[in-house]
Amino acid sequence: MSLVVVGSVAYDGVETPHGKVDRMLGGACTYISLAASFFTPVSIVAVVGDDFAKEDVDLLAGRGIDLEGLERAPGKTFFWAGVYSADMNDRTTLRTDLNVFADFQPKLPERYKSYPYLMLGNIQPALQRGVHSQMHGLKFAGGDTMNYWIQDYRAELEATIRAWDFLLINDSEARMLSGENNLLKAARVILSMGPSALVIKRGEYGAVLFHRDGYFTAPAYLLESVFDPTGAGDSFAGGFLGYLAGCGYSPSQDASSDTLRRAVVYGSVMGSFCCEKFGVDRFRNLTRAEIDARFQEFQAFTHF
Ligand code: AMP
Repeated sequence: MSLVVVGSVAYDGVETPHGKVDRMLGGACTYISLAASFFTPVSIVAVVGDDFAKEDVDLLAGRGIDLEGLERAPGKTFFWAGVYSADMNDRTTLRTDLNVFADFQPKLPERYKSYPYLMLGNIQPALQRGVHSQMHGLKFAGGDTMNYWIQDYRAELEATIRAWDFLLINDSEARMLSGENNLLKAARVILSMGPSALVIKRGEYGAVLFHRDGYFTAPAYLLESVFDPTGAGDSFAGGFLGYLAGCGYSPSQDASSDTLRRAVVYGSVMGSFCCEKFGVDRFRNLTRAEIDARFQEFQAFTHF
């Protein structure tokens, strides 16, 4: 069933111990929608500049992604550049040129408004709220955020996530948002803020799903070599929500956490594929059979 994805479509410059690329397709919305497109129909809402290349449009369209909500504005596409530490656990941002993204006002095509699934990438909470409030018939909706919004836009962010079914953030953001250092306590605080499902991403340590009745942990897949972790968190989000949308998940009809648990594992699977090549390159020729094979590997190496 259709999933709407809102967020950044960008050009990235990335340097890791394995190499350097000055400019390639990136952006949270890009990673989320490419990863989700292996599971369900995806429609995006984003803005790019007049420098956005045809080959990049073709890549998204080639994965069947609906681009009616991809606005083209005069100016340049959002540009972000970063460099990773030797162990790739830390990343330093070198440049953030917002360009056309600075004035991004998500415009939701009429057709999208009745779609049942919504993933709000990391943008200003008020904009996330604006999109959410225009949708009718949502079955499962939520998104991501970052330290900047938690620190400087707290009231706006709290009002926004109150209406969400899920929140997907990393561990340092969960601590900052809750004011609790202990992850279990942090999760309890966040679950009292609105969302009924919380996924805390823990980088190379995997992810934990918290819900009203308990929690579930999934490790990260151990890769022989990580080429570029950029977009791994967003690809996780795409796998997680794409899988749920693909099975028509509805929290009111599915009381057990089994479907959510499988979604977390599909999230880990998609995050791991993302790291195998630079940028979005791994998604160019990935197949659903490879995805399902890795899902089964997860079942095997976590079984006891
Ligand atoms: P991740 O590695 O999962 O955190 O995702 C990185 C992606 O997010 C990159 O492709 C960037 O283009 C994009 N990005 C970086 N900074 C921002 C920002 N301030 N707002 C929206 N997207 C961003």
